[in-house]
Amino acid sequence: MTSGLYIQVPFCQTKCTYCNFHTGVFSSQLYEPYARAVCREIEIRARGDIWPAFDTAYFGGGTPSLLAPENLARILDAARANFDCRFEEVTLEADPETITREKAEAWLAAGFNRVSLGAQSFNDLELQAAGRMHRRTDIAASVSTLRTAGFRNLTLDLIAGLPHQTADSWRDSVESLLRLEPEHISIYMMEIDEGSRLGREAIAGGERYSAGELPSDDAMADSYELACGWLADAGFEHYEISNWARPGFRSRHNLKYWRRELYLGLGAGAHSFDGLRRCANSHEPAGYVASIELGRLPTEQESTVSEREALEERIFLGLRQLEGIDLSALTGARENSLPARIEDMRRDGLVIVDGGRLRLAPDRLTVSNDVLVELMEAV
Ligand code: SF4
Repeated sequence: MTSGLYIQVPFCQTKCTYCNFHTGVFSSQLYEPYARAVCREIEIRARGDIWPAFDTAYFGGGTPSLLAPENLARILDAARANFDCRFEEVTLEADPETITREKAEAWLAAGFNRVSLGAQSFNDLELQAAGRMHRRTDIAASVSTLRTAGFRNLTLDLIAGLPHQTADSWRDSVESLLRLEPEHISIYMMEIDEGSRLGREAIAGGERYSAGELPSDDAMADSYELACGWLADAGFEHYEISNWARPGFRSRHNLKYWRRELYLGLGAGAHSFDGLRRCANSHEPAGYVASIELGRLPTEQESTVSEREALEERIFLGLRQLEGIDLSALTGARENSLPARIEDMRRDGLVIVDGGRLRLAPDRLTVSNDVLVELMEAV
């Protein structure tokens, strides 16, 4: 068994209108102390629990590419010095407009071998309305810079359902993305909830943040389904609800989450799972740094996963993978109505049971949350 290392960098240049993450705009004066604090957290954690070798690392955010390359390298060096690291995949999330040739070369030299580019759209009106800093031309330029530097594993994200998105602009975004020939693609469906400015505005029926220009749920679902067809035609394997890869390029790190494998999260708001317990660091970056400087771990939540919770996780996380889960993995809980519910849902065409495996029906992926919730209610 191996583990994954996650490093949270909660800094952004602006706050995107649709963002519901615990990230924000902070003074760049905090960047270096933050990187030092992450290194210190590595040293403290390395004196505690023993983790199986780390074979993946993932710097997410936020916008990790805002940190100076030497600070990113310093964190990786600290990990190598304190843990058993046998990295095969080391990912950096980056915004297109933050990438320069010097940075790309420094990232490669530090040990990063995969870059996740937050493209989101190739339409400037959509990008501007969403509060993104980059524009269409920045995406192609950043891919070219990364390729020239030597990156052979790139993943690009798109969002279906951005304000102003139309059937034509969506097709253009997906086609433009495919022309850049990434190894991996993520497509997320817009979430409208109280956690983002756009979501709150849309729920209140307002017009700010172009909330009145949001595509309907049906249009968003159509966009997702069309993309599934186009990406399949282009040779991508659809392996998780939101993720597609060229053969051999599935995200090794993210697979650990869906398979409930072990990962250690470092930084403000980072989550960890050691196989038995889940814990999370406090969210606020300055408080995180202050706590670490005092030699105290900023653990905010810690709980042991109960048998029932473990079963719910196996369903909720495992079924995100299109290959589904082994039905035998759904035993172990006390009496529940899961087998009967699965049979009902199979008859209704929501799930497929085949060869001892349970998976979501391919034509129900756009309502996957509803299907998963319904299944979990039977646990
Ligand atoms: S969507 Fe990403 S870049 Fe935009 S504010 Fe949220 S974390 Fe930052």
